[in-house]
Amino acid sequence: MAEPVTIVKISLTAASFIKKYWRIILIILFIIALIPTLILTIAINVLFPQASTEEFEIYKELTEGSGIYWASFLAYDVVRLNNYLKDNNPKESVFDLLKVRFTEYEIIEKEKQVTKIINGVEVTETVIEKEYVILRELETNGYLEIKELLGSLNYNTSEDNMSVNKVTDFLEALNEEEEYEIEIAILTDEEIVQNFDDNYKQWFFALVEIIPLLDPSSEFDSDEFIFADITTNPDIPSIWPVTGRVTSEFGEVRITGIHRGIDIANVIGTSIKATANGTVIAVGTSGNYGKRIMIYHGTDEKGNTYVTVYAHLSEFKVGVGDKVSQGDLIGLMGSTGYSTGSHLHYEVIVNGVKVNPRYFLP
Ligand SMILES: [Zn+2]
Repeated sequence: MAEPVTIVKISLTAASFIKKYWRIILIILFIIALIPTLILTIAINVLFPQASTEEFEIYKELTEGSGIYWASFLAYDVVRLNNYLKDNNPKESVFDLLKVRFTEYEIIEKEKQVTKIINGVEVTETVIEKEYVILRELETNGYLEIKELLGSLNYNTSEDNMSVNKVTDFLEALNEEEEYEIEIAILTDEEIVQNFDDNYKQWFFALVEIIPLLDPSSEFDSDEFIFADITTNPDIPSIWPVTGRVTSEFGEVRITGIHRGIDIANVIGTSIKATANGTVIAVGTSGNYGKRIMIYHGTDEKGNTYVTVYAHLSEFKVGVGDKVSQGDLIGLMGSTGYSTGSHLHYEVIVNGVKVNPRYFLP
């Protein structure tokens, strides 16, 4: 226990300190409050260089109440446009995930004379018989096809009316009428990837799992993700990606921001290895990162999802969608992007947040 006098002394010192430096303290507190936002923004920008936080909101808004899983929708657009969301109109592509089965009938009513014998007396009655003749029958998906169908039904297809909810409401109301039979279905993830090649299929499924973890509103406590038993687990990034000298640690403060990876230096062309089994989700040039690879390692039994990033490479040895095993060659060391010399910038992302790779290194 501290002596009461000491406590008073400390409080007085603290009070005078706060009084003197309150402006600076306020600024520091403000910066600390900004850090989580900054980390998430960086995570989003690394995976989707053209996507902003607002883009996540658009995808959620467009799928609200439609039954479409927003992450599948966003992944669909990302894969379709090869890792970049530019030149993309999510308002139109959301219709790619809807399937409309449509049948229109012409109802022909015919009068028919029916003769019955009731109590031994012949009675002739006139009944109306309906005949359903199919006028048109189609199964369709995609913005333009659905718009064309709606236009033919005299629906106002101006931009404002082309929301999934409005279109669904209209078609459901029409379905109440006798001459229509309309069924609206949402494509399953399996159906979405039908026309993708094998690499794009794997990439799509990896993205569907990762995207929710990059959601800025999700919560993350980094202390929960430090384990003692990760070494030699091939499914968790637990080996060194390259041999060399560590020139910069995680957390160093630089002019460009806090260093969210570890830098390992060696000569240009040094082999870089995948640090765990996984699927390659991004291969390309991304701003300061230069040539960079991202690998998705799946989710472990504790529910943690891992992604690793390898930046400033000189050469790629894998492509998007490739399956890799721990220790496989994925690329060669270089100095591309914002780099002052040949080195690897290595990152470990757990549940969308960059953590110190040292936690996982032997
Ligand atoms: Zn670095």
